[in-house]
Amino acid sequence: MELRDDELLHYITTEDPAEAEALFARAREVRSSHYGQDVYFRGLIEFSNYCKNNCYYCGIRAGNPRVERYRLSLEEMLSCCRMGDLLGYRTFVFQSGEDPWFTDDRIVEMLEAVRREFPDNAITLSIGERSRASYERFFRAGANRYLLRHETASEEHYRKLHPPTMSLQERKQCLWDLKGIGYQVGAGFMVGTPFQTPENLLGDLRFLQKLEPQMVGIGPFLPQEDTPFGKHPQGSFEQTLRMVALTRLLLPKALIPATTALGTIAPQGREKGLMAGANVVMPNLSPKEVRKLYALYDHKICTGDEAAECRVCMEGRIRNFGFVPNMARGDAAGWNRSA
Ligand code: SAH
Repeated sequence: MELRDDELLHYITTEDPAEAEALFARAREVRSSHYGQDVYFRGLIEFSNYCKNNCYYCGIRAGNPRVERYRLSLEEMLSCCRMGDLLGYRTFVFQSGEDPWFTDDRIVEMLEAVRREFPDNAITLSIGERSRASYERFFRAGANRYLLRHETASEEHYRKLHPPTMSLQERKQCLWDLKGIGYQVGAGFMVGTPFQTPENLLGDLRFLQKLEPQMVGIGPFLPQEDTPFGKHPQGSFEQTLRMVALTRLLLPKALIPATTALGTIAPQGREKGLMAGANVVMPNLSPKEVRKLYALYDHKICTGDEAAECRVCMEGRIRNFGFVPNMARGDAAGWNRSA
């Protein structure tokens, strides 16, 4: 769908609930025309909270001495997968900080082990920026998808959220590399990060249109008290929902998760995300003991539940809103697995 800059800016900023509801209804129509009422389930495994980066917003940044650090062993990761597979998950998402202990060799070893045991499941990586050569190795070892939010498409804004050692250009290059290699790619951004303007959000949407990622992760900024942004206000729930809806209109076939951050900022936040055009949920498969430690922001939900409880809880929640759980691999519509 074509939308002009002024139209997008209008919806980015409107506070009229009736207008927002009309936008969500259009987004739901577009979503249903490609995916019906189906909501895809992905099992999330947060396997390390070590990170060499110092993003000003993130709770597991290297410079936060108050984080109790952990790494899952390969055996622990495989048990998460086994539990997930038993519960019906056909996509495993491996996410971590940028942890140098996980060299390319170690990631490849992990991918090969998971691929061997679960030949038909999709494997998604979300481990940050690496070289094109590393991404190629991971792809050959069995990874199919990669999540790397661009965070903000504006150079100026990016510099306000990250230390000078990090660059937006490199992050964007990673996304283009991943696409070129043949991954299904997920980009995305936070809503309401400090210093963000409506024009920045417009820029995020225009960047998504250019990149055409198969997946888009959008969540509100939530402060974590031990970070430089710990005292900044959280992002707006309503604005996050509008960004989900606008993304659905611009990228009709995208797989868009109703994120944990959305579930954290408001009761039934994830369900409302689905009502605004999202069509994926990512319940947690990480061992219960480490969930609290993967604290990107404060008050994260579902940290006390077992994987099986998350699966059942999420299914009930989405059915209550008229959606249908889909446990299949759920590649992007039109995606050709053998290509
Ligand atoms: N190291 C990986 C995974 C990052 S964590 C990578 O670089 O891609 C996944 C996402 O959590 C980040 O991309 C960011 O958008 C989001 N995030 C981090 N801190 C957050 C916060 N304080 N509030 C909301 N979302 C946050």
